[in-house]
Amino acid sequence: MLTMETATREDWTDTNNRLARATPREILEWAVERFYPRLTMATAFGAEGCVLLHLLAEIEPRVRVFNLDTGYQFAETLELRERIAARYGIEVELVRADTTVAEYERQHDGPLYVSNSDQCCYDRKIVPLRRALVGYDAWITAIRADQSSHRAGAQVVGEDPKFGLVKINPLLNWTRRDVWAFIVTHNVPYNPLHDQGYASIGCWPCTRKVSAGGDERSGRWAGQAKTECGLHSLDSSQL
Ligand code: SF4
Repeated sequence: MLTMETATREDWTDTNNRLARATPREILEWAVERFYPRLTMATAFGAEGCVLLHLLAEIEPRVRVFNLDTGYQFAETLELRERIAARYGIEVELVRADTTVAEYERQHDGPLYVSNSDQCCYDRKIVPLRRALVGYDAWITAIRADQSSHRAGAQVVGEDPKFGLVKINPLLNWTRRDVWAFIVTHNVPYNPLHDQGYASIGCWPCTRKVSAGGDERSGRWAGQAKTECGLHSLDSSQL
């Protein structure tokens, strides 16, 4: 039965059917036409995010893009932000938690990523993300369906009930190979840590190298059941 809330939400079925075979560029063009300027994008400067930044630079470079700067990012990731700015003229905004890492670790008698990584992700990613999305109707993410069984259930466009706006995933149907082929063809800047065996790059305390051919997200929170920081999951236990 439709509730009042779901009845007033847009049904994205037709749009998803139409965009099912669209290219990432076509999906981004649709998103810009439909939502800009109330459209934003989050990036951790992964390979996929760099592809989207390249495309946005050509389609609409004024889309506001932000990075959740937890204070625990690799130096190489922050340097990539500078290289993106130099190449595309896009200044990715750094969105930070209320406390510095030093203040946060003082409050918790040490780094929380050791004892309670869910809480650490919540405080340093989810809370700032909620704040960053205020005032926007839609956000773009760089997830791919083949990254995990959870992400395989996503759609190109749909309501994001967790954050209360529309979520658009232009690279959902691309493979890792597609992403790297694009990067090589277009000489897109990327994080040099990828060349050192880091397949998926997050905060340095929670990111490990992955053996050749291994699950690309297995280096994130290695040794824990945790697979997502909470940005792309509906599971409240991952908050
Ligand atoms: Fe904290 Fe690790 Fe989550 Fe980064 S990935 S916010 S360091 S628990």
